[in-house]
Amino acid sequence: MNSHYEYDVVVIGAGHAGTEAALAAARMGARTALLTMNCDTVGQMSCNPAIGGVAKGQIVREIDALGGEMGRVIDETGIQFRMLNSGKGPAMHSPRAQADKKAYQFAVKHRVELQENLTLRQEMVEEILAEPDPQGETHSEDGSPAPRMRITGVRVRGDAIYRCRAIVVTTGTFLQAIMHTGEAKAAGGRAGEGTTGTLSDSFRKLGFTLERFKTGTPARLNGRTIDHSVLKEQPGDENPVPFSFLTERITQPQISCWLTETNADVHELIRENLHRAPMYSGQIDSTGPRYCPSIEDKIVRFAERDSHQIFLEPEGRNTLEYYCNGISTSLPRDVQDRMIHSIRGLENAEIMRYGYAVEYDFAPPTQLFPTLETKRVGGLYFAGQINGTTGYEEAAGQGLLAGANAALSLQEAEPLILDRSQAYLGVLIDDLVTKGVDEPYRMFTSRAEYRMLLRHDNADRRLTPLGHRVGLVTADRWERHERYEGEIQRALSLLQSRRHEGNTLEEWLRRPEIGWDDLCGFSADVAALEVPDRVRQQVTVEVKYAGYIRRQQVEIERQEKVQSVPIPTTFDFHAIPQLRVEAREKFSRVRPANLGQAGRISGITPADLAVLMLYLKEPR
Ligand code: FAD
Repeated sequence: MNSHYEYDVVVIGAGHAGTEAALAAARMGARTALLTMNCDTVGQMSCNPAIGGVAKGQIVREIDALGGEMGRVIDETGIQFRMLNSGKGPAMHSPRAQADKKAYQFAVKHRVELQENLTLRQEMVEEILAEPDPQGETHSEDGSPAPRMRITGVRVRGDAIYRCRAIVVTTGTFLQAIMHTGEAKAAGGRAGEGTTGTLSDSFRKLGFTLERFKTGTPARLNGRTIDHSVLKEQPGDENPVPFSFLTERITQPQISCWLTETNADVHELIRENLHRAPMYSGQIDSTGPRYCPSIEDKIVRFAERDSHQIFLEPEGRNTLEYYCNGISTSLPRDVQDRMIHSIRGLENAEIMRYGYAVEYDFAPPTQLFPTLETKRVGGLYFAGQINGTTGYEEAAGQGLLAGANAALSLQEAEPLILDRSQAYLGVLIDDLVTKGVDEPYRMFTSRAEYRMLLRHDNADRRLTPLGHRVGLVTADRWERHERYEGEIQRALSLLQSRRHEGNTLEEWLRRPEIGWDDLCGFSADVAALEVPDRVRQQVTVEVKYAGYIRRQQVEIERQEKVQSVPIPTTFDFHAIPQLRVEAREKFSRVRPANLGQAGRISGITPADLAVLMLYLKEPR
């Protein structure tokens, strides 16, 4: 007889999305199973051994503020910490850290193992089990009503069944994955690992559309064979800033990265061999990330450049393996060897792993509600690279929210949906479900309209109360948060009530040339105020940028009036004759939850919105 197991939530895949999803669901009380192809790759970094960076660092702080793990794990296992853009305004400051890749992975796995309510098990999931939902109705792409399905469980290799009430799919780059190095092709979502074919078939049978993307990775080198003496050293920050609001200080020693660059010989070699690159030979025709191009793409697109930077990043404390950031490639092995040996400092370097590109299936995310539940199948959630995104941070953030929403739906509680003005994660999910993706999606600061509000330094103030409301935040984190808010209020009131030469200290602090230390000279009470540095920094940013912050808040309030007009899920857009056909089709496909979301769909004009608004205000 086949084995049967019963859970509330099943999470498929234990990458960055899956581990956050499973931890979130289990912490919120759902009996959760995390099923993954290989228990030795839980939390594995497929590509660069680093967390954070511009806009991504802000996301890690948001995940942490909501009670997720990524921030604490990188604080524990980071080997080099840098605050990027620290010379710019506070909205642009972005934390980034190199990770000890293996230590990071073990730390994630350990947290999963320790979590109550959570079972980690090595399984290959082959099929999603679903039945018609007697109460459910959805819409086909043409807007016609279609029956909605509801999940009942999953079937794994060997035919064991896991029955459950919600499923979070986080299968990353593994669906029908093919890896390419030059002319050589192999099935697999990551070097040394397998692929999942039957799961794609299962999604298609349930009516989902799947498309193909590609991404790539560079060669890894043996550090013993790198000539560091001719490279430029890049040390970490002297005072490393932690990612997690719970970490007091980073105390471990840091390791340097090293800089070199490509040159005219390398570029010539690549040009001569372009016909052997799968992207140019026609072997791959799916779209890759434009902003994270392979070295062969860079040579073609930026033909005028005669060099590109390469960061040599150590992969850990107990290995000599180096990641070559900046020269992702799928050129054949012999070209990769010659390319590496033509670079300064790498003349004698040994390649430990060759670079490759991977093509995989993803599910266009306009098939999702903002909770990350699929429109077609109730109880089925998608998170991470399967939604067409790229990056560990983007994946982890989606995982956390999908896991939380799966647990909330079982409690029949309000879902956790973040607004664009509340979080980069709100921008990410709104962009995915509203606009869809035409290339692998990564976060940029320019995607957020309220950057001044979405700073890394205030992620806890924006999100910890929400995490607390839904049960994601531990008592310890909440207590610290409340103490911190109290200290900020105390410091602010002091600045508002003390004066110097006729002006309040708050007014003084607004001046660009005045800092907290000057205020201590103006008032003995401020000098005597005992609060952590973080409180002083927070108050300083809030006071100095109060004008910008207020302007963004006024804009948000104005937008909210329009945004908040709800659109019923069963609304028939095809019954509005005045709407352009294109608008009717787009509205029917995306099924926006409110007027705000409707207006952000690409190709929708203000006139379309005006027509829709009229119908929503005067229901027929
Ligand atoms: P993953 O981390 O891929 O995890 C998926 C998990 O699902 C794995 O644990 C896998 O074992 C499991 N799984 C899959 N199918 C099944 C199944 N049927 N049953 C059970 N378990 C299953 N990101 C960047 O930001 N920049 C880059 O340059 C970049 N380059 C990349 C290059 C390569 C070659 C690869 C593979 C990835 C690259 N990425 C890059 C992407 C980055 O690795 C992902 O965005 C991130 O890991 C996605 O997280 P995830 O949790 O969605 O999926």
